[in-house]
Amino acid sequence: MSRPEVKRMTQQRRIILEELGKVTSHPTADEVYGMVRVHLPSISLGTVYRDLEAMSGSGLIQKLETCGRQKRFDGNPAPHHHVRCLACGRVGDLQTDTELYIKADFDDPGGYKVTGYRMEYTGLCPDCRRDPLAI
Ligand SMILES: [Zn+2]
Ligand SMILES: [Zn+2]
Repeated sequence: MSRPEVKRMTQQRRIILEELGKVTSHPTADEVYGMVRVHLPSISLGTVYRDLEAMSGSGLIQKLETCGRQKRFDGNPAPHHHVRCLACGRVGDLQTDTELYIKADFDDPGGYKVTGYRMEYTGLCPDCRRDPLAI
């Protein structure tokens, strides 16, 4: 890859990271695309998707694969739990303590090498709790 290309890619990723850091909504790739297009009008959805995948692979951001049908992304790389609202689909961060974290890197006696786990809490978000007709 040529130097200008690398520079452009780095700049793109910086903007994606910045935009993702501004929200706590755990946006989908489509939503991130909408956010970064304001700054990079010529960027494609495919590029945004690849950048998100690459940055989650290197631990800069988190990819949430359990929360709903579409993958969502989180600008906060620190381990924390997520909750998905059953009524509106919103995905939020839980304020639970770290006691709940599960050991996720061990050799199972049955021969499996465990390298991670996926889980999500489900429930009702603060807005939907207030509206009894939401669910
Ligand atoms: Zn809700
Ligand atoms: Zn989160």
